[in-house]
Amino acid sequence: MARTKYSERPCAYCNKSTRMEFVGEMEGIQNKAWFRCTRCHHTSLIDVGPPAASLVHGKLDATQATLYQPGQSFKVGEAIFHTEWNDVGKVVSKMKTSDGSQAIIVSFEKQGQRRLIENLKPEPSTNGTTAE
Ligand SMILES: [Zn+2]
Repeated sequence: MARTKYSERPCAYCNKSTRMEFVGEMEGIQNKAWFRCTRCHHTSLIDVGPPAASLVHGKLDATQATLYQPGQSFKVGEAIFHTEWNDVGKVVSKMKTSDGSQAIIVSFEKQGQRRLIENLKPEPSTNGTTAE
C-alpha cells in the first residue's frame, strides 16, 4: 500500500489546518516540501520532519562563536564565547555606559543576561611609575 499523498497541514491561506496534497520536495532545502491545499488550491512550502535541535533550543555553537575580548567590538546577534565562564552567548544589544565606554548586553546560556565592556581602549598608565 502506497503512502498517502494527503496529510493535515496548516495552510497559510486558509489560516487553518487543512487536507493538503504533497507536491514535491524542494532541492537544497531540508525538512521543507511543497504542499497544495485541497481547499484553496494554493501551494506553499511547509516545514516537514523534526526541526533541528539547534533551532528548538536556540543552542549556540561555541566553536562558531567569537572569543570575547574587552578590546574588541561586537555586533548585535553575534555569538560570543566567554572563556572565564566557559559560556556561550548572543549579543542582544549595545549600549554606552555612564563613564562613556561601550558595552554589549549578552544573553548567556548559563550565566543569563550579562553586560560586558567592548571596544575598550588600553588606558595610558599615568601613575604606573613609583619613583623613590
Ligand atoms: Zn488553503
